[in-house]
Amino acid sequence: MKPYVYLDGGKRKYKGNIHTHSTRSDGQYEPETVIRAYKDKGYDFMCLSDHEIYWKSDSFDEEGFILLSGYEMACEMSWRETGQQYHIHGLLDETLGSSIPFEHDEEHAKPDYAGLDTIQALIDEMREKGNLVIMNHPTWSRNKPEDLLQLQHYAAIEIYNHQSELYEAVGYGVRHWDYLLSHGRKVFGIAADDAHGGAMDTAISEFFGGWISVEANRLNQQEIINAMKEGRYYSSNGPEIYDLRVEDGYLKVECSPVKFIKFITHPFNGRTVYNQDASPVQSGQFLLDSHMMYVRVECVDHEGNVAWSNPVFPDEWKR
Ligand SMILES: [Zn+2]
Ligand SMILES: [Zn+2]
Repeated sequence: MKPYVYLDGGKRKYKGNIHTHSTRSDGQYEPETVIRAYKDKGYDFMCLSDHEIYWKSDSFDEEGFILLSGYEMACEMSWRETGQQYHIHGLLDETLGSSIPFEHDEEHAKPDYAGLDTIQALIDEMREKGNLVIMNHPTWSRNKPEDLLQLQHYAAIEIYNHQSELYEAVGYGVRHWDYLLSHGRKVFGIAADDAHGGAMDTAISEFFGGWISVEANRLNQQEIINAMKEGRYYSSNGPEIYDLRVEDGYLKVECSPVKFIKFITHPFNGRTVYNQDASPVQSGQFLLDSHMMYVRVECVDHEGNVAWSNPVFPDEWKR
């Protein structure tokens, strides 16, 4: 049987941070400063996802670097009392063919929360306005996994939000992710910075700590979005995943040198690949079973940094 290729080691991947703020909302730096910083750091794309104000401009795009159109939208619930709220990401997806897309700098008023229906209506409105929707930092927002399961029409959740991990130790959304996946929801993961300010050039900084690496055909908004919708990317705060495929009944991964490669699945237990002397491993494989609901891979380096594959599903590899 032909291998089912999720990430192809021979194909170009584009590195991007889709979540960062500037003085257009509550960020410390002007847009040009933030954009220059990511450009200089070797990123291929980014999104200035300021709060409730849409970015849709190619004025900073250049050869080998683009800004994605999008924004971050909030709906505050009882966050002053319980910390609960929703932050929802929109990225322009032209294939939705919106007749009422956002303009550059257009603002979007926060809705008054009256129940989970308010959040669903907000997601639907963001989609009507032509956006791929991502649920941001579910742990920081104190989103309940069962509420995320009830909500529909979003493509991914943030599984690593660098800034909220750095300051408040609530950056990981992996628990929410596995909850959704183990309840049959097909949803992808995102790692992002959510940088607002502070030093950019220190060893630990709000910047350059979480990103996605996308296997797109070309560097433009729609190619990146298409690849994201198909899960053709991985998320990381350190290691790299080069290749991910199903071949001869195994899920096989190749990555940069790491300490552990973990295969995580449900309802069975997974497998961890490592060397007993802790010397680096760069590949691993896991025997698949068609009763697995999903399998995803975490490559964990010697400093504890992780590259997360997107989940793979039996209806794909059985084809
Ligand atoms: Zn947020
Ligand atoms: Zn944010």
